[in-house]
Amino acid sequence: MKLPIVAYGDPVLKKLATDIDQDYPNLKELIDNMFETMYAASGVGLAAPQIGLPIRLFVVDASPFADDEPALENFKKVFINPVIEEESGEKWDFNEGCLSIPDIRENVNRHRDLKIKYYDEQFTLHEEAFTGLAARVIQHEYDHIQGKLFTDRISPLRKTMLKNRLDAIAKGAVRVDYKMRFPLANKRKR
Ligand SMILES: [Zn+2]
Repeated sequence: MKLPIVAYGDPVLKKLATDIDQDYPNLKELIDNMFETMYAASGVGLAAPQIGLPIRLFVVDASPFADDEPALENFKKVFINPVIEEESGEKWDFNEGCLSIPDIRENVNRHRDLKIKYYDEQFTLHEEAFTGLAARVIQHEYDHIQGKLFTDRISPLRKTMLKNRLDAIAKGAVRVDYKMRFPLANKRKR
């Protein structure tokens, strides 16, 4: 089942998300729904806060980047209760977008490498290192469960320049081809 994606401006996107355990209700179904929602919106990652749940869970499938990085061919993963333990390597710019912030893309500067500890959907613990675009997708989704958006990582000047467009998104004044929930939509006057 496809779920509505929460738009910029919703307080759930600003919350520090909390850990879950194996008894979290309908977890398998939730994960399936998150993948379905992500694919329907042509995304490469989706975090639980983006469907309104402030829990430490995100899904990624970076295979659309496999043209640039062949290692990403089958890069489909579920991250539960992840903790980034280390970020290292040179910092680089990548033009990021976000399903909660349609039509806006900005260069975001992040470290190239990371080490992360997480549980998969079977609640098996992993500790792995990622680099390049794989690390980038994880860093973006991890930010979501920390209550951060990529717009929090751009310069104040850039953010000021985007303010009107961001306000418009919160009000639902944006065209998207997937289902969204806009925090200020019902306050919009016509
Ligand atoms: Zn995002």
